[in-house]
Amino acid sequence: MKIRGSVVTPAGIVTDGVVEIDDDKISGVREATAADDDAGVRTGAWIVPGFVDIHVHGGGGATFTTGDADAARATAAFHLRHGTTTLLASLVSSPFELMATAVKAFAPLVSEGVLAGLHFEGPYLSAARCGAQNPAHLRPPSLDELTTLLDAAGGAVRMVTLAPELPGALDAIRLLVGRGVVAAIGHTDASYEETQAGIAAGATVGTHLFSGMPSPHHRHPGPVFALLGAPAITCELIVDGIHLHDGTVAFAAGVAGPGRTALVTDAMAAAGMPEGRYELGGQSVDVKDGAARLTRDGSLAGSTLTMAAALRHTVHAGVSLVDAARMASTTPAHAIGLERTIAPNAKADLVQLDEHLRVQAVYRNGRLVTP
Ligand SMILES: [Zn+2]
Ligand SMILES: [Zn+2]
Repeated sequence: MKIRGSVVTPAGIVTDGVVEIDDDKISGVREATAADDDAGVRTGAWIVPGFVDIHVHGGGGATFTTGDADAARATAAFHLRHGTTTLLASLVSSPFELMATAVKAFAPLVSEGVLAGLHFEGPYLSAARCGAQNPAHLRPPSLDELTTLLDAAGGAVRMVTLAPELPGALDAIRLLVGRGVVAAIGHTDASYEETQAGIAAGATVGTHLFSGMPSPHHRHPGPVFALLGAPAITCELIVDGIHLHDGTVAFAAGVAGPGRTALVTDAMAAAGMPEGRYELGGQSVDVKDGAARLTRDGSLAGSTLTMAAALRHTVHAGVSLVDAARMASTTPAHAIGLERTIAPNAKADLVQLDEHLRVQAVYRNGRLVTP
């Protein structure tokens, strides 16, 4: 099979290019010729690598946060239709029993390739920076609890977000990294120095940079500057036009570069659904004007983004399409140990976009997914 459009590759854009697909792999990337002018070649304005969302709780009315396998399949299918070919299933802070249930229910989906892994956002988070995390479930890091979950998961847990200033957090980071799990710093009240201690212990991701952490002050730079300035850290950004000002997006992407900034949706169930009342991890959320907010205090409770919408907002913020596509795919993939790019021998996970960057067609493992 071959598909046609301007191809966004790591080396730049191949204007009017063709991507050749052989089984589940990309076999070639080249400029189109007259021989490609046949009606059987699906053509779009742009071809970008399939999106990789390393932080997503739900979408299309379904959610990962209940630990239900059918709901997880529905959530993954919703985001796949919007171009996300690889994702982590993110839970919010939960009792141990629910975390164990989710591990048991989702590990087979990881083996099957529906999910790339689980992401526990919490429960080892700062009460002062809990945002939409249920404060009733927050607790200090427990190495016993983590070990039990990782043993049960058989490699299915890919990332854990925690606050490095909590007692035992640095040992927890070392445990995670030693077991091949990505440690992410987020929902934290840490100082600059405490954040750096977390990075020194092995953390490699900053969870939704700027949100769930103190704003930087020139005498108290805090987690934001520590994470942005650390070469080992990939910084997640929620680019929905609500969480971050366009100038903040352009600044962060400029400072850390597209190789260290990853777009995430942090989407909850209401993504792609009508506005109204939803829930996230047992808490009531109201969705209005595209913003999801806790009913009890108005805190932002994730987003209603798809990765395609995040890509559009990022380009709108002034980031080039080449860089934005890298931030939506290659960089987040790298953060969880995967390679995603458009090049010969790469996995044929691709998205065709129209001139307004709307999804026209999605290919996963070389097969067309109905958009
Ligand atoms: Zn969060
Ligand atoms: Zn989240």
